[in-house]
Amino acid sequence: MSGHSTSRVARPRRTGTALRVAAGVAAVALPVALINPAAQARTTASAAAGSDASRGGHQQMPKEPVVTGWGGAVSSVDRDASQVGIDVLRDGGNAADAIVATAAALGVTEPYSAGIGGGGFLVYYDAKAKKVSTIDGRETAPKSFTAKSFTNPDGTPMNFSTVVSSGLSIGVPGTAALWANAVREHGKMSFKQVLAPAEKLARTGFVVDQTFADQTNQNAARFSMFPATARVFLRGGVAPAVGSVFRNPGLSRAYQVLANQGVKTVYNGQIGNAIVAEARRPHTARGVTVMGGQITRADLRKYTAPNRAPIASRYQGLDVYGMPVPSSGGIAIAEILNLMKAYEKKTGVAASRLSEVDYLHRFSEASATAFADRNRYVGDVEGVPVKELISPKFAKERACGFSPTSTQARPIPFGSPDGKYSGCDAKGVGQKEPYEGKSTTHLTAADKWGNVASYTLTIEQTGGSGITVPGYGFLLNNELTDFNFTPLTPGVPDPNLPGSGKRPRSSMSPTIILKNGKPYLAVGSPGGSTIITSVSQTILGYVDRDLALVDAIAAPRLSSRNGSSESAEPAIYDTSVGAGLIALGHRLSSTSEIGAVTAIRNYGKVFLAAAETTRRGGGSAMVVRPFR
Ligand code: GLU
Repeated sequence: MSGHSTSRVARPRRTGTALRVAAGVAAVALPVALINPAAQARTTASAAAGSDASRGGHQQMPKEPVVTGWGGAVSSVDRDASQVGIDVLRDGGNAADAIVATAAALGVTEPYSAGIGGGGFLVYYDAKAKKVSTIDGRETAPKSFTAKSFTNPDGTPMNFSTVVSSGLSIGVPGTAALWANAVREHGKMSFKQVLAPAEKLARTGFVVDQTFADQTNQNAARFSMFPATARVFLRGGVAPAVGSVFRNPGLSRAYQVLANQGVKTVYNGQIGNAIVAEARRPHTARGVTVMGGQITRADLRKYTAPNRAPIASRYQGLDVYGMPVPSSGGIAIAEILNLMKAYEKKTGVAASRLSEVDYLHRFSEASATAFADRNRYVGDVEGVPVKELISPKFAKERACGFSPTSTQARPIPFGSPDGKYSGCDAKGVGQKEPYEGKSTTHLTAADKWGNVASYTLTIEQTGGSGITVPGYGFLLNNELTDFNFTPLTPGVPDPNLPGSGKRPRSSMSPTIILKNGKPYLAVGSPGGSTIITSVSQTILGYVDRDLALVDAIAAPRLSSRNGSSESAEPAIYDTSVGAGLIALGHRLSSTSEIGAVTAIRNYGKVFLAAAETTRRGGGSAMVVRPFR
């Protein structure tokens, strides 16, 4: 396989005077209105005239992966949840209200990924303030934790899966605090109002789909260890059937209590007390014993979901905003994008002109390098060299080892983000890849005022710790397993060891991109450490490869994280693209599916919402008033 070839160029996104929305999936051309203000005015008026059926109301929207229109947008993995967000926008709520309402609904329909038993990160663009901010709703370790909390007396790491389904993995949940902050700081509605649709959904039920049934079945053995979990999710001992209606009265009650008593119920009240009791001494089925947890009521009282300044970087003239520490997402994505730029400068060939193989080769080298650096330097500790890690000069130095014709040996050693850059300076150690699960959910919302929300939330593993808070119908996280149980490399400082009150490092990467100071793209994905690669690959596909947004999302994914092999979806692994990568020295392993991206592209008053076409059964993109 030769180095750069320009023989296969990405499909053009823009054709003539119309923007292609979904070439290759469900080809739709956006109306000329998008680029012709006069036509837009005409179309807007006619759409308004024709919208009586939905006015004031909650017109049911179909489940589709891409849609364009006016009035605001929501994109999530689930139709019921996206519908809740759109209803909130229709009722006068803004992006903050919609994102929280949608997330609360996902707590009902995606309870194995989202809910008040977990944590997450929100990136928000406030149109009035013209500012991007973030809220950190990450779980915290108990005060009693130390660097050795996950080691056996002989110093070996505890068994990972034993810790996962135990009280010991449960961190202080941050989701309810994040929701309350988001609504208080940015919302137009009350906390009670935004929780109401999800409360109703939990009470009246939703229709079970294949994903929910599959995820329940995959967790059935674990769930049956905990009677409170089995009572909610394994009625009669089996997973709910596809097509049946699933109600969660306990969760409906939890949302009622949260709405009526406010967020203090989770941090200093009845729900919090129930969380602590269950985490410390989980109720188990006869004959089953699991380790108890260490979180206390004092840990919960101390919890905050703080605002943090976003990671800000530039790529191809765009301002890219991501999540700072304790997530590594914003930093790693900034470094990947900087490296792509540095490779471009080094070779003189733009990513847009590369064959698919050569483009993925670059992407793989960039992401493996960024992972080497984040594993060494990023965690919830003092002194993370953030400015240096996201500096283009550091990326230029890190690009030193890049070759367009061969792969750098894995693991790539970490670099020296020391502010002194002179050619090649990678004197670090090549470290093994830390383990991270692959679950979670991402959602995006945008409103007619120009506010945008990009939010990833999780309970860590699909099904979290497997432990449900009795009577409240939600699962507790196992987020503390995101810490490294023992140092990655003996003798090398590891920023992600457990610690007192510490937040485990995350890969969650909710991202908002501005162009000329205006909202351009909001994007994110689930998938543990693959989140970072899925989000950056989608950005690159859209920005550099000129794919339609839904095609950039649907494009076959490669996830290179500096491990001994790279995960590749079958459309890469089983094809000439995979063969081309292997010829360059890449070691691929086949993975059926990576990530589940949702995104929104703002075109002024017009929105393009997009989601997966097939992964996880396809996502659900909606706008308030679609072009039809
Ligand atoms: N715990 C993961 C993280 O924070 C998210 C869960 C997952 O996607 O597996 O990065």
